Amino acid sequence: MFEIVVSAHLHTQYSDGMKLHNDIAEEAARAGLDVIIATDHNVRAFGVEGYHEGVLVLTGEEVHNRRKESDDNHCLIYNCDEEMSPFAAQPQRLMDEVSQRGGLTFFAHPLRREPRGRNDRQALCWTHWNLQNYTGFELWNYQTEVKSWQRNLPMIAFGYLFPALLIRGPFRATLRKWDELTMGGKRVVGISGTDAHGRRPGIGSRIGKVFSYEHAFRCLNTHLLIDDQLSRDLARDKALVYGALGAGHAFVAYDLSHSARGFMFSGSSGVDQVVMGDALRRRGAVHLKVECPAPGMIHLLRNGKIIARKRGRALKHITTDAGVYRVEVYRPFRLLNRGWIYSNPIYVT
Ligand SMILES: [Zn+2]
Ligand SMILES: [Zn+2]
Repeated sequence: MFEIVVSAHLHTQYSDGMKLHNDIAEEAARAGLDVIIATDHNVRAFGVEGYHEGVLVLTGEEVHNRRKESDDNHCLIYNCDEEMSPFAAQPQRLMDEVSQRGGLTFFAHPLRREPRGRNDRQALCWTHWNLQNYTGFELWNYQTEVKSWQRNLPMIAFGYLFPALLIRGPFRATLRKWDELTMGGKRVVGISGTDAHGRRPGIGSRIGKVFSYEHAFRCLNTHLLIDDQLSRDLARDKALVYGALGAGHAFVAYDLSHSARGFMFSGSSGVDQVVMGDALRRRGAVHLKVECPAPGMIHLLRNGKIIARKRGRALKHITTDAGVYRVEVYRPFRLLNRGWIYSNPIYVT
């Protein structure tokens, strides 16, 4: 398999972002990304997909119901050849219509941690948890985490100047929700989003750094394991990207602390070998293997509980138990142990 680094949630001038696709691709190229997927609010940009500066530019959509008073339930749509926003008012229908077209659905920033004193606790959250037919959700949304620290003016200024001192990892509640859903028998793919808009508040470039696309691309990404190398053939490469995304052959990484390229979580039992996102049928013992590109504190979890912990670059674990296994890796960065890598699960049956 081949690893690519993807930014799968960002906005352009087609909605409320500051730049157009090709200019954003230049920032992505400088940050070392392979693929960006623009997801504008209730609008799908057609005719702009292709390679620019070596970066594959794809377009999806971020759909929400504009006619509703509360601004919640944003859903990212990928691999659909038409705009799906007309279905925004009927969440289950939206999931079904997208899936019938071979598309993928991910709940954006599903849970939030609002700054104290703010009463819009539900704003921008996901509330329809009993839907069928969806692909996954955002485990970690960069802008949502930055905003969660904006308790007062000094904190806002501090966050703009030193964002890396605030970013810690996905909200615990989001990880708990993920474990709850997967333990209930669902396959739920976890991805990350920068939600970059490229906005600058106009009070100096240093202050506005946290909003630039390039900064966001250097921080939080989704790494995908694709079946073949990208070849600059748009239709073929698009199928590789969305194939891996749909299968959950993916992990989320805070690349600013150290590039996570090279991470792998794999499993084997008998002659069967799988990677994160896959199911693995037990044929006697199950061997699980974690490999990291740099040392970190590796946690192996089964059904949401840590079952093995090791500091270093690798962890091996042998088990005969069925369950949902996933990996979290932490690294010391900017004075604290911060979340670095979150793998998709291997579903051992
Ligand atoms: Zn949103
Ligand atoms: Zn967004």
